[in-house]
Amino acid sequence: MKTDIIWSNVLNNIKNEVNSLTFDTWFKETKLYSLKNNNAYIIVPMPLHKRLLKVSYNELIVEKLHEETDTYYELIFLLNEEIEDDMKSNNNYEHTDLSTNDNNNEFSYESNLNEKYTFENFVVGNSNKFAQAASLSVAENPGKMYNPLFIYGESGLGKTHLMHAIGNYIIKNSNKRVLYVTSDQFIQDFININKKDDTTGNNINYIDYFKNKYRNIDILMIDDIQFLGRASQTQQEFFQTFNSLYNDSKQIVISSDRSPQDLKLLEMRLRTRFCWGLTVNIFPPDFNLRVEILKKKIIGESIVNVIDDDVVEYIASNIGPDVRQLEGAITRVIAYSTIMGAAKIDVNFAIEALKDFISKGMNGNSDSARVMRIVSEHFQISVEDIKSKKRNANIAFPRQIAMYLCRNVLDESLKKIGSDFGGKDHTTVMHSVSKIEKAINENLELKNTIEKLKKDIINV
Ligand code: ADP
Ligand code: MG
Repeated sequence: MKTDIIWSNVLNNIKNEVNSLTFDTWFKETKLYSLKNNNAYIIVPMPLHKRLLKVSYNELIVEKLHEETDTYYELIFLLNEEIEDDMKSNNNYEHTDLSTNDNNNEFSYESNLNEKYTFENFVVGNSNKFAQAASLSVAENPGKMYNPLFIYGESGLGKTHLMHAIGNYIIKNSNKRVLYVTSDQFIQDFININKKDDTTGNNINYIDYFKNKYRNIDILMIDDIQFLGRASQTQQEFFQTFNSLYNDSKQIVISSDRSPQDLKLLEMRLRTRFCWGLTVNIFPPDFNLRVEILKKKIIGESIVNVIDDDVVEYIASNIGPDVRQLEGAITRVIAYSTIMGAAKIDVNFAIEALKDFISKGMNGNSDSARVMRIVSEHFQISVEDIKSKKRNANIAFPRQIAMYLCRNVLDESLKKIGSDFGGKDHTTVMHSVSKIEKAINENLELKNTIEKLKKDIINV
């Protein structure tokens, strides 16, 4: 039988046994490459899948393959680009301990989770699929896959949503104890210990309270860790909390608006620990993802039939990348239609409803900010990176292109461009612009890319 028929039967059988979220995230994009010498070579889309499928679904796949082929295969998970290499070498399997260590502590506690944020209502696209998959793998295997999981990205891109989704998933599927806090709450709890100490002269209970709250849990999630930088004393306590949980194989999930390396106010030893597990960057949603997110939101409001598709596109191309603002815009349009008693919402209606919203620059838009956003989306880096001083080619090159476009399309002065791009010297800008001018003449692909970006910039 052909491998793709075998695999489609296997997938169909698996589909019946796992939920659709699991199936879509881990199985949908897999392929059976070949069956050879009792090895089944399975192609997976991201490195993350290898480990997760091995840890969580090895037996299931082996069993389903056996049903189709009467053979028990050893599974070898490969990325597309690894096929050649790995077929030649022998694979050793690490043994993974799958036993669960659920604990059944009885006493009550607050997880602080908001059940509104789930994986089911998180819309996945290119810019966030790595972060989503990493989060789901941690939710399925807390403490075992990646510890800590560090999610970073600009405001409004879904970090908090993913953290709650992890927590809600774990609580639904196990009796593990989850605690979600912002770093501000952590600091506050820590300060309280000392305050109580001052007034009563006896702080034992509050220390117990603190230790119980932060150590007697299976999953600790700290949101917006960058604020811990303001409280240097608290960092010491956090360090101990981290170590204690980590040594007990408890899962730690951290979010931040910047990468661990860029958390300059945090102690070095903390930053180093944050890199022990997996660090994932969440990028601004591109146009298509913005449209998908808006559509999902509209379905949630049960007003699908009243809103024209081009309203969604109008919003997606004028607002963003902050998803919070996208949501704000759609809420506003809906509220406006209720007030006005409109039966149907078309583009003209939306333009009217969003007049102030868009022109007030809710999307933080100077023209050059727009250029940076479009270029950063195209190259899947962040605007912060473009404005930074980083010199790696994957950031410096898009930065030069963005500068070129500001000069060429917007006709901005070198000085203005320099200041918009995080305070760069005008000679740097001049150098970048002429470098790209030259490169375009030598490289047709680059020329086409630039043409496309120009269109995107002009087209709104
Ligand atoms: P962050 O913590 O990164 O600043 P949030 O997680 O608070 O961002 O997200 C802001 C808002 O946008 C939330 O209401 C969240 O539900 C929504 N959101 C962000 N990304 C997505 C997505 N991919 N799908 C659905 N909603 C999203
Ligand atoms: Mg947040």
